[in-house]
Amino acid sequence: MLCAGICNTDLELQRGYYGFAGTPGHEFVGEVVDADDRMLIGRRVVGEINLNCGSCEWCTRSLGRHCPDRTVLGIVSHPGAFQEFLTLPERNLHIVPDSIPTDSAVFTEPLAAACEILEQVQIPCSSHVAVLGDGKLGLLIAQVLNVYGFRIHQFGRHPDKLRISEKAGVRTEGAPATLPTSAFDWVVEATGSADGLKQAVQMVRPRGTVILKSTQHGLVGVDTAPVIVNEVTLVGSRCGRFEPALDLLSRGLINVQDMISDRKKLADAPQAFEQAARKGTMKVLLT
Ligand SMILES: [Zn+2]
Ligand SMILES: [Zn+2]
Repeated sequence: MLCAGICNTDLELQRGYYGFAGTPGHEFVGEVVDADDRMLIGRRVVGEINLNCGSCEWCTRSLGRHCPDRTVLGIVSHPGAFQEFLTLPERNLHIVPDSIPTDSAVFTEPLAAACEILEQVQIPCSSHVAVLGDGKLGLLIAQVLNVYGFRIHQFGRHPDKLRISEKAGVRTEGAPATLPTSAFDWVVEATGSADGLKQAVQMVRPRGTVILKSTQHGLVGVDTAPVIVNEVTLVGSRCGRFEPALDLLSRGLINVQDMISDRKKLADAPQAFEQAARKGTMKVLLT
């Protein structure tokens, strides 16, 4: 492991939400020290986090991310990246182009999750898209959709965080006293809060689409009447392929550097976790 990022999921694992025990960590850049494919040895790599069976219906459709028998690096039954050495199947690995610095490449996994939206829904060219939330994932989503030419309106409560996507050219709206109602055909919910879905449903126009990116533990109370009456499509969205994320990073199109709050040695992981849990902290990296 060269560098690994602490994500909100890691903090939730630590709080015991998923009954996880073991070594967490799923956002990483590593250097290959051993592999059957000798070409990989010594190379700098990132790795897809789902370890799939390779032969089921989902795997044969290149959707191993949905393999029912999968384990997940640092999340489900496979030791994660917050250690000096970790293992992954070779087919999960992607070589990091030389043009991407290690502390940018470590954002490949969350950036792939942002790119996943574009694989799931066909948003017409130059559509207006609302992005709710200015956390790490919200900032990546707003930047990705902006790069692809959609007209982004990013809503969030933290001017300092919104500045990160503004610097990459995203139009931000702050947190207006009343959010616009029935205003967008496309709304991405990435607030990480229980109210987010309700707000997104209010903001979407009839026949519009809400893309759900917040992984909420526990129940989210939402009134389904407006969803039904307005014939709103709800799309759940999780992990994505790494290729488009690496492409965006190699072209320097995503401002990830300003998202790094701190870098700490692996030996100081407990303090790094404390810091990552503090309000206002963005990405804490372990090296
Ligand atoms: Zn994560
Ligand atoms: Zn499978």
